[in-house]
Amino acid sequence: METKDNKLTADEQAAANPREGLTRAKRIVVKIGTSSLVHKNGKMNLKRIEKLARVISELKNQGRELILVSSGAIGVGTEVLKLPGKPSTVSGRQAAAAVGQVHLMQVYSRMFAEYGYDVAQILLTRDTMDIPEARQNAVNTFTALLELGVLPVVNENDTIAVDEIKFGDNDTLSSVVARLTGAELLVILTDIDGYYKDNPNERPDAEMYHTVTDLSEAIEAAAGGAGSRLGTGGMLTKVHAARLAAAEGIWAVIANGQEPEVLYKIIDGEDVGTVFVARKGR
Ligand code: GLU
Repeated sequence: METKDNKLTADEQAAANPREGLTRAKRIVVKIGTSSLVHKNGKMNLKRIEKLARVISELKNQGRELILVSSGAIGVGTEVLKLPGKPSTVSGRQAAAAVGQVHLMQVYSRMFAEYGYDVAQILLTRDTMDIPEARQNAVNTFTALLELGVLPVVNENDTIAVDEIKFGDNDTLSSVVARLTGAELLVILTDIDGYYKDNPNERPDAEMYHTVTDLSEAIEAAAGGAGSRLGTGGMLTKVHAARLAAAEGIWAVIANGQEPEVLYKIIDGEDVGTVFVARKGR
């Protein structure tokens, strides 16, 4: 029989392993950016996407509920249309996104089908969040899809989103989706190991944050120049998104998506990436 003396309180447990909370996450939002999905030559990184599909499917097999926030529509569309580069006009980018989104979903659909899972496309704009009825409808759809065992794949509705109704980047979008769906964990996969205290491209000895408990704006200070060059948001939007999620009681991790198996390590509470410890009381 366990006595009070040999049983750790939740606080003691958290002190013993600050990542313990990650191991209990059931509903998980995974965000993957264009730089992880597309090669430098613009072609889709099928090997990476295949691995991601396998890992996410296994996590679903374990009984977890997954939501994927995927960028890449504009990048893939640019390649499919054989354009010389990302179109410079808004309508050009919207057209590229419309084409690329279809291709992206085709690839996801095929790859997840390998493991017996269906995917669903959810395209959101910011006004979906601002209009209470639309927001509730989105929640209901997510709930229904998760009950059906389907994997929701979310992106911004780039085809119609103009500045006024834009999230602007998928880091922000992923944090909004995590809050909307009551997720326990948000994982932002990028092309760097985590959040560094200095720009690791300029200073190879830069240290990485492993565990962040300070959820104030001050923690964003080092994010200005650090990190990914390819993504839309850079490190600042990632840290901001992770901080806001953690402040709402959602564990958030910024990690390297080069090897999608990193998701297993995160959920096992291993010391990978930068974890933003969820504020209690949700
Ligand atoms: N929604 C954009 C796309 O799919 C990407 C935005 C982002 O990377 O943050 O191309």
